[in-house]
Amino acid sequence: MTDAGHPYAGTAIALATLHGKAEALAPAFAAIGARVITAEGVDTDALGTFSGEIERRLPALEAAIAKARLGMAATGLPLGLATEGSFGPHPVVGFLPLHREIAVLVDDTRGLVIAEWLDSHQARYGGCLLKAGDTLDEAELRRFGFPEHALIVRSEPFVPGSTIHKGLRDGAALDAAIDACRRASPDGQAWVESDLRAHMNPTRMQRIALLAERLVARAGTCCPQCRSPGFGQTGAQPGLPCGDCGAPTAATLSEVASCSACGFRDVRGRSDGLTEADPAQCDLCNP
Ligand SMILES: [Zn+2]
Ligand SMILES: [Zn+2]
Repeated sequence: MTDAGHPYAGTAIALATLHGKAEALAPAFAAIGARVITAEGVDTDALGTFSGEIERRLPALEAAIAKARLGMAATGLPLGLATEGSFGPHPVVGFLPLHREIAVLVDDTRGLVIAEWLDSHQARYGGCLLKAGDTLDEAELRRFGFPEHALIVRSEPFVPGSTIHKGLRDGAALDAAIDACRRASPDGQAWVESDLRAHMNPTRMQRIALLAERLVARAGTCCPQCRSPGFGQTGAQPGLPCGDCGAPTAATLSEVASCSACGFRDVRGRSDGLTEADPAQCDLCNP
């Protein structure tokens, strides 16, 4: 199906990635007749790596825009696409892992950046310290989603210059890497963690595919005031009343949609229609 009415129907969009993301991103764009062109030879890892050899110095949104621009420069196309994942503890519920994936479409023909994001708590990510003599048990390997989800192993403490073993998807290779890292560590310890690069983490790849659909939908929504593409939710206002006592809670009361071209804002009710918060979220009913 192609959507001739979509502002990006029939376009070619550059993608700089070392990690096979085109596979996850291209179908959503193909559905509107847009082609994703992978820029060859662009080192997106220069902007930061998950495994920490290169620290990411830019906030995630800026890092995604910088990555999209690398692809545009390499291909000479005025449109660029990139995603950037962030993993860490949930800012409110600390024990829940949060995976936030941001996608941007940079459009130099209109001077626009269209951004969309997706949060999830089911990310296959984590790490664990193996002290001398410890082994990884089956339950831990399942928690990591191994072997479909690859692992990284390094010495702990990390000895500069020692090998970081990446992309491990095989039990024997994993054991050999753990042994090698233990020998490199002064304390005989190894650190094992998820390999979060998209092509090594099918859960992340699925989230990127879903995010691509949302980005295409947002890019196809035009501002009611200036008709620029990319109109959609950019924030939320708290204050949803408690279902028991009616006091305002921290839960979202209204969603804010805005246009990055003209600044038009529209404050509207929640898209899920919820009008009352669970009393468990209320500071008065559940202090
Ligand atoms: Zn209450
Ligand atoms: Zn506008």
